[in-house]
Amino acid sequence: MTDDEARVRRAIDGLHYDFSRFTIPHFIAHLEALRQREIILNGVAFDGRLHGLWVRAETADYVFFDSRTHPVHRVHHILHELGHMVLGHRLYDLTAFLSPELVARLRATLSPELHGHCRRWDPHDSPEEREAELFVRLLQQKILLAGRLTALTHPDTSIDALSRFTRSLGYDG
Ligand SMILES: [Zn+2]
Repeated sequence: MTDDEARVRRAIDGLHYDFSRFTIPHFIAHLEALRQREIILNGVAFDGRLHGLWVRAETADYVFFDSRTHPVHRVHHILHELGHMVLGHRLYDLTAFLSPELVARLRATLSPELHGHCRRWDPHDSPEEREAELFVRLLQQKILLAGRLTALTHPDTSIDALSRFTRSLGYDG
């Protein structure tokens, strides 16, 4: 096991999460309680170069995922962004990576400062991106072993149940 893998495994163990109860909403509620911060999901029709996006605003964490991709991929992108949060990765100024239009809309709806992570088509370009992907793979293994595969492969119901976590920002693409 590499140091990176050991670190990611420790972070997952540190969540003390019962994977036999895994659904995306249940896992997010667990993280919210643990971190004492709201996590709000938003499905957005991205322009094709983005997979997912995490913005750490003052009062909540916002996770955007591409609403047009297959549900299995949506879950993957959500877990990837949650991985950055759980692993305590440093934040980037997102204005350097996002289109000016998206930046303007996020600033108007979320926060003047846009700090966080974004997942583009070339996701494996930094150690943090690799760690977030490792987080997803290890989580998938635990979910599989706990007999919760359908929460990954048929997450539609699970994602529909996310209304509590989803806030309309008047922004859908
Ligand atoms: Zn990432």
